[in-house]
Amino acid sequence: MSLRLASISVDLDEVPLYAAIHGLAIPHGPSAHAAYDRCVPRLTEWLDDESIRATFFAIGKDLERDENCETISALQLAGHEVANHSYHHRYDLTRRTPAEIQEDVERGADAIERACGKRPIGFRAPGYTVTDALFNALDRAGVGYDSSVFPCPSYYAAKVATLAGIRLRGRKSTSILDTPFVLRAPREPYRVGKPYWRRGNGLLELPIGVTPLQLPYIGTSLVLGGEKIAARLTRQMLGRELINLELHAIDAADATEDGLATLAPHRADLRRTAADKLGSLRAAIEVIRDAGYELVTLEEAARRIRAQPTQ
Ligand SMILES: [Zn+2]
Repeated sequence: MSLRLASISVDLDEVPLYAAIHGLAIPHGPSAHAAYDRCVPRLTEWLDDESIRATFFAIGKDLERDENCETISALQLAGHEVANHSYHHRYDLTRRTPAEIQEDVERGADAIERACGKRPIGFRAPGYTVTDALFNALDRAGVGYDSSVFPCPSYYAAKVATLAGIRLRGRKSTSILDTPFVLRAPREPYRVGKPYWRRGNGLLELPIGVTPLQLPYIGTSLVLGGEKIAARLTRQMLGRELINLELHAIDAADATEDGLATLAPHRADLRRTAADKLGSLRAAIEVIRDAGYELVTLEEAARRIRAQPTQ
């Protein structure tokens, strides 16, 4: 019988990263920590209520702040998985030298291990951008699975347009584009080959969700669409052996309550309240549960997928 697993993962990208993407001034004060201090508590309350254990991808550098170490340590103690989202979250990580890539991956894992006493198993690349050189570094670092490949044509096109728009307005973005080859990658879990977008015998990749109509199945789509669209997009994902739903902590932000007014004009999702957005996520989980899917961490999903005779 084929697997019916679903995983919720949350990238802990902090507010200054979004300001940098849009070429805005980096915020200071409490709003600069809204992802950790405001959004994570909202998300964990919701996850507890749903009895879901999720995977949180932490950026190593953010763990230089003691409060953030306490947050991820508490997540781990509560049974969630804490995984590696690199040390610096450089959007151009894949354009660095192999030695720099290796150092950033290992340093991210070291920081998480120091903060919560367990070395992370999983990795997610900044900005979903991967290369064979990055996969080589993950192999050498002993990473157990990767979840970064995002073979989504409409997301790719939107990113091209956003980056062009930012440049047209004379601002500089820190974000970069992957090569379009990523669009050829499988939509289901697979072992990466060379190049990474072909199947092979390498690291287990758990791709980010893409619907059969090639739409991004990620938190942003669900919270922007509202409950009905969240449920409809989720129904389109049924039948997959793994429904891999990637959120960002900021998906649970409330621009007014969290002091994110300067970012709100640049992000449509920030025009919705946190309560409204969590309603969309609840609607998605209801569809997933009604279809008999089991919600597990990505680490557990990777373990079960590896145990399948065909993998
Ligand atoms: Zn990120």
